[in-house]
Amino acid sequence: MKDIETLKSAIRDVPDFPRKGIIFKDITPVLKDGKLFSLAIENMLEPFRDQKIDSVVAIEARGFIFGGAMANILNCGIIPIRKSGKLPSKTHSIDYELEYGTDTLEVHTDAINKGDKILLVDDLLATGGTARGVCKLIEKSGGEIVGISFLIELAFLNGREKLKNYPVHSVLQF
Ligand code: AMP
Repeated sequence: MKDIETLKSAIRDVPDFPRKGIIFKDITPVLKDGKLFSLAIENMLEPFRDQKIDSVVAIEARGFIFGGAMANILNCGIIPIRKSGKLPSKTHSIDYELEYGTDTLEVHTDAINKGDKILLVDDLLATGGTARGVCKLIEKSGGEIVGISFLIELAFLNGREKLKNYPVHSVLQF
């Protein structure tokens, strides 16, 4: 099997989690296998390797796992985007749409400098609401988005449409 197919077949479908009707894409079988984890990181980085990136911005919580490893290879730092009330210092915040209602994401006001070139990372692109909210937060902080990288894209939800102003990369499409 080709590497990417092996990686794809390691993603575990968990039906009806966290709610009835949702098929949750479980990445933990990839994380626990050193070769697959490395393959995931290498492929998530691939289009951005030769670009100037000042910081990786990663979305709580699974985005931190990939973002940390990618930042280390890019030789840059990682900036966490967290749910409301988790970051200790002064924050910028943004409300974003969920399937039902809204939620709030935050970043420290001093985390991103004006003109910083940012690579945004998360595990999975579904409707694109989360990533779009974070893009607004990065831009509010003065950052420039070089690209957005996901391990998984649920293509049938057309989340790319919400992110059409940015280069979007995904390794595995379902
Ligand atoms: P969205 O804002 O709809 O693009 O949702 C993206 C966020 O929700 C990501 O941080 C994902 O980790 C999580 N997510 C949404 N749908 C799923 C799914 N089917 N399986 C795993 N995670 C999901």
